[in-house]
Amino acid sequence: MKADCPVCGATISRQIDMVVGELLECTDCGTELEVLSLTPFVLAEAPQEEEDWGE
Ligand SMILES: [Zn+2]
Repeated sequence: MKADCPVCGATISRQIDMVVGELLECTDCGTELEVLSLTPFVLAEAPQEEEDWGE
């Protein structure tokens, strides 16, 4: 099963042990992607909210 990178359109194959919510990196553009769904296999750009804002 495969999905397209929402950023660059590269085809990304689903790994057997992937789970919903898992983060992976597009091998083509390097964007961090989140697994939204396994059937069908859907990917979305991961939210960039890991930075600590200080206060
Ligand atoms: Zn990509």
